[in-house]
Amino acid sequence: MIMTSPIAHRLAASLPSATVRIADIASALRRNGVKILDFSAGRASEATPQYICDAALDAMQRGDTHQTPARGTPDYLAACAQKLARENNLRVDPDTNIIATMGVKQGLFLGLLAVINPGDEVIVEDPCFVSYQPLIQYVGGVPIAVPLRKEHGYRWRQEDLERAITPKTRGILICNPHNPLGTVMTTHDLQCIANVAMKHHLTVFSDETYERVTWGGRKHLSIAALHGMSERTLTLMTFTKSYAMGGWRTGFARGSERLINAMTIAQQHTLTCASSINQAAAARAITETRPEVRAMWKDWERRCEYAVKEINAIPGLSCDMPEGGFYAWIDIRQREQSSEAFCERLLNDHHIALVPGAAFGPRGEGFVRMTCVKSWDELRAGIALLRAIL
Ligand code: GLU
Repeated sequence: MIMTSPIAHRLAASLPSATVRIADIASALRRNGVKILDFSAGRASEATPQYICDAALDAMQRGDTHQTPARGTPDYLAACAQKLARENNLRVDPDTNIIATMGVKQGLFLGLLAVINPGDEVIVEDPCFVSYQPLIQYVGGVPIAVPLRKEHGYRWRQEDLERAITPKTRGILICNPHNPLGTVMTTHDLQCIANVAMKHHLTVFSDETYERVTWGGRKHLSIAALHGMSERTLTLMTFTKSYAMGGWRTGFARGSERLINAMTIAQQHTLTCASSINQAAAARAITETRPEVRAMWKDWERRCEYAVKEINAIPGLSCDMPEGGFYAWIDIRQREQSSEAFCERLLNDHHIALVPGAAFGPRGEGFVRMTCVKSWDELRAGIALLRAIL
């Protein structure tokens, strides 16, 4: 008998990422010739803009194909620092306050490794992005879910957070703009979180993946820019979504020198550094956000509006226009089916992929998530199919 390696508890008990798993199933079906309409993972239909690809080609031709400093190339770190000053009202030292990461998940993992000891509690939103709880658990932390309630506009009140604090609480993890709900936090929302973090000496992990794509004239605010919050916030940003660079896995984390130093040590021992080529491409992307990128964002807003309007016209489904991000968070409670069963039926019988709300936490049950930034043709076909099925 062949003995296989036992799997450690932290992974033996870990469920797959619903977003990545469903997207992988959709890709496999497509490879087998099945015509699939995939609205699962947050992947835009557009190719990465040419000027960004050219920056990668330039880097390769220049010979920038070797390891970079663990923290990132001086050019990339400078581009990130300038972007933070220009767009996020955050003034930082590129040499000490930033580390290049391969996406937000990797940056968050480094941040959690640096801050959370076994048994420490981290407050998370319910619903929240599918990977937060597993990442907290991988470092031995304990996620404490605090509901985002509809009656409070899917926002935490300060007292909701205060009630969740224990002597073991070390951090609060937020997603702003929110995936999957699409809320964009106001100054008041952020101040409530900041007040609790300052009072109890907590680190705020702030995933700002969707900061560039906010709708209806809303403006994204970084919690680190609030008075007293810069030193206690780890700001996580990426260009994978907003610049249609999903496969490039680029991003960065911004925090105190002490925290970034600790994360850099873990970076040295694990990834070594973020990809040199991708850093060059991302630096160009953010240094000159070209009109074609802004036009793409504008069109994404129109696609979200279209999807929301059409979904609301289908009996038994309803959703609100997201304030930011590009997901429709669809209420299916009238269908009297679990979100898992609903999505499974759509995928198996009709080849349309959505993400069940339950994957985002107990408060996600009764909802499904649909990515709206697929091509117009896919979007129209998907909506027509949903209308026909339901
Ligand atoms: N973050 C994206 C999503 O929510 C991509 C999938 C993933 O990285 O989990 O769909």
